[in-house]
Amino acid sequence: MATIDLRSLPPEELAAQLKEKGYPAFRATQIRQWLDRGVTDFEQMTNLPKDLRQELAALYTVPGVTILRKLVSAIDGTVKYLFRLDDGETVESVLMQYKHGWSQCLSTQVGCKMGCTFCATGMGGFIRNLSAAEMVAQIEAAQQDAGVRVSSIVLMGMGEPLDNYDQVVRFLRLLGEEGGVHIGMRHISLSTCGVVPGIYRLMEEQIPLTLSISLHAPNDEIRSRSMPINRRWPMDELLRACRDYIEATGRRISFEYAMIDGVNDSDACALELADRLRGMLCHVNLIPVNAVEGKSQQRSSKARIRAFMDILEKKGINVTVRRTLGADINASCGQLRRQEQQPGPGVDRKEALP
Ligand code: SAH
Ligand code: SF4
Repeated sequence: MATIDLRSLPPEELAAQLKEKGYPAFRATQIRQWLDRGVTDFEQMTNLPKDLRQELAALYTVPGVTILRKLVSAIDGTVKYLFRLDDGETVESVLMQYKHGWSQCLSTQVGCKMGCTFCATGMGGFIRNLSAAEMVAQIEAAQQDAGVRVSSIVLMGMGEPLDNYDQVVRFLRLLGEEGGVHIGMRHISLSTCGVVPGIYRLMEEQIPLTLSISLHAPNDEIRSRSMPINRRWPMDELLRACRDYIEATGRRISFEYAMIDGVNDSDACALELADRLRGMLCHVNLIPVNAVEGKSQQRSSKARIRAFMDILEKKGINVTVRRTLGADINASCGQLRRQEQQPGPGVDRKEALP
């Protein structure tokens, strides 16, 4: 049975494998060109000799995704996809339009092990890692469906990217290559809940992406209550890793802070947060928390968010409030997959089937 994931293979590895079978290196280039054009059926790769096409079909697969559901926001055109993977599992992805172009939020795992209490993805537990090819396929599918070119990527969909380190880095390297999906590292953000060893590994890769840290609390007491990973790598360790990362790369870190009513949004929390981030080359992004079915969390009021922001600003911290996109389609990740698993009256009627 064909088992080798052709799309995740770095070109030089594919060339080496073909060489072992007696084919010249330019065959690998030809194969990549077909993949970049969206051709995944080996029989259609007409400039390859017939025996190579047969051998490819026997040994290699090209993982893909198909659109299972699609929601389009009537407010701002944001598109949310539920993709089906080859083994029947599903992941979500969101396509958003900004002034500078289209940005896509990708999933890196089916489910997640981290169990953050406010997150819909965390509720379903962990199923499996995605391959680098399945990450690329999400971009190709969205580009083809929407007829647009994606110019920036955020790894903020389902899953914890640094818990699937090797495939995520392989994916990033594939993106940097010439070809169908070419996106520069400066247009990529990776968000982590705080896998400290992964932050150090990433630092050594010297990939100039933007690192986002899901902080969501100013101290261990509050953070450990909602983010179990904080018990493994508490805030002192996490913030030390962030400072080391900034020093080594010269790059600014972005801290995500979901504003949850009565949990982490008091003036005292803002003061404590400002104190901990003092002097750091960083940016705080306040996110009104999204409601999740089955969870009681409420987003902080606009006035509360404003007051929180003012305190951070007065303390010299660079801060913004995230613009809400796709509010009518519940564009944060994890919820559509859950609905698909337990269809019921809560299913969004704005659904537009492909
Ligand atoms: N696992 C990674 C990336 C995926 S989650 C991480 O945790 O960073 C992407 C972002 O969505 C994270 O900042 C996460 O904390 C946030 N998030 C999860 N559930 C949310 C919710 N209900 N409302 C707002 N943001 C949420
Ligand atoms: Fe996983 Fe991120 Fe959700 Fe936490 S917030 S459960 S790390 S996807």
